[in-house]
Amino acid sequence: MSAATHVHDAVIVGAGFGGMGAAIQLKRLGHDDLAILEREDDLGGTWHVNRYPGLAVDIPSATYSYSFEPNPHWSRLFAPGPELKKYAEHVADKYDLRRHMRFDTVVDGARWDEESSTWHVRLTTGETVVGRFLLTATGFLSQPKLPDIAGIEDFAGTVVHTTRWDDDVELEGKRVGIIGTGATAVQLIPELAKIAGHLTVFQRTPIYVSPKLDGPVPGLVRGAFAKLPLTQRVARLAGTSILELMMVAGVLHFRNLPAANQIGRRACEAHLRRQVKDPELRAKLTPDYDFGCKRPTFSNTYYPTLTQPHVHLETTSIDHVDATGIVTADGERADLDVLVLATGFDLWETNFPAIEIIGREGRNLGTWWRETRFSAYEGIAVPKFPNFFSLNSPYSYSGLSYFTTIETQMAHMARLLKGMEKREAEVFEVTEQANTEFLDRMTGLLDNSVFNAGQCSTARSYYYNQHGEAVLLRPTSTLSAHREAARFPLDDYEFRTA
Ligand code: NAP
Repeated sequence: MSAATHVHDAVIVGAGFGGMGAAIQLKRLGHDDLAILEREDDLGGTWHVNRYPGLAVDIPSATYSYSFEPNPHWSRLFAPGPELKKYAEHVADKYDLRRHMRFDTVVDGARWDEESSTWHVRLTTGETVVGRFLLTATGFLSQPKLPDIAGIEDFAGTVVHTTRWDDDVELEGKRVGIIGTGATAVQLIPELAKIAGHLTVFQRTPIYVSPKLDGPVPGLVRGAFAKLPLTQRVARLAGTSILELMMVAGVLHFRNLPAANQIGRRACEAHLRRQVKDPELRAKLTPDYDFGCKRPTFSNTYYPTLTQPHVHLETTSIDHVDATGIVTADGERADLDVLVLATGFDLWETNFPAIEIIGREGRNLGTWWRETRFSAYEGIAVPKFPNFFSLNSPYSYSGLSYFTTIETQMAHMARLLKGMEKREAEVFEVTEQANTEFLDRMTGLLDNSVFNAGQCSTARSYYYNQHGEAVLLRPTSTLSAHREAARFPLDDYEFRTA
């Protein structure tokens, strides 16, 4: 590294809500020289990339936002996607983050340089950006998954993945097929059915759908939120508490509290019974795995859409695609003009980590995770990766709203960086022992959860990695995650001078 090389305080990869939260925290801690590198052409992460019709948040908006930056202007209880994007822009402006951001900047990899105690972040253009700290905020659901279906490249019509939505695609009166019935498809299908001439929904695994207690937020309430922020805090607390109860009682304590899990399951089954009268269709839509194995979703319009005469739910598996449509395993074919891929995201092959990261002694994070076990101390730090915050790590996702995770990680960063400063050190690194102990504790807790104790084998849930371990979610309450982030033993880290 030449003496002229500029060394940023930190390089953050990703300008979504995770990267922005981390940047806000670093600035609060006095680190203002930041480079926020973003592969897309604007900020907002998921909420910039996803633009499909029907896009909305499926966590109450008062909860799905930074606690320190409440937004009194949400138009609905569950805000539409464009409002989330607008909120991201507001946060970037208010916290003066834009000047640190570089868009259309694709990171190829990052390497720790022991001699200079800095991270060298390589861009696809060949440029290197250098920083004392590296933070990856590349998201959990950011690498679109294209289905491995024979002949898909032969399809002569239009193919569109939900993350690459194109408003110019002609849907009016067309024969549209959609592969996938995850949370994205559940939002998109009712919208497609409004315009398509015929819609075929290809379902491999049904999803639990719960009623969505949505509606416009009356002007009076918005006014109260703006004038008396405490009222919105109360709404946030209510939303967070319900989600927390669902997660902790229904999913994490499955072995001890099976009845709590049954409440979630029954609520979804009753919703299905109310909205779908045809027993055959209902049977096709009924999951055969336990509630919570796979992320459930919320909708009042999904089931009724599937009962419409021009909508067909196809549950026979897809054999192949050809130039004019999809052929199922029973030899039947569906001729299509447009094929929508609501096939989700790859977490375990191309993500974790999303870029190549080489730490001390040449440890390659992706290889190490795959050859040993997926682990990250408190879901944020990894041994042999000094001055590195891995924000989208195994065991990092806590609760149901991503903002809980973001703010827990912000608290961890504050404690660690303040502790380091107090010791007049310049480099932190979590110890192997602390990492192993944390992993053992999380693995033990998982045994109580629906992921290990329930019937999840048929769920095809992205919570599980390629070894069949559900290491995505942190199996503790969000309260305990937050408490630990504010109180973890600093001795779990080694501190050095550069
Ligand atoms: P997903 O939950 O992973 O669903 C992908 C769907 O595609 C599944 O139904 C899957 O079937 C199907 N699929 C994939 N490959 C296939 C193949 N080769 N053949 C047939 N079917 C195939 O992805 P998603 O719906 O995009 O949702 C991902 C997550 O994004 C959600 O769980 C949620 O966390 C988040 N999300 C949030 C919101 C929000 O409002 N906050 C909205 C949308 C999404 P199998 O189940 O059989 O694999």
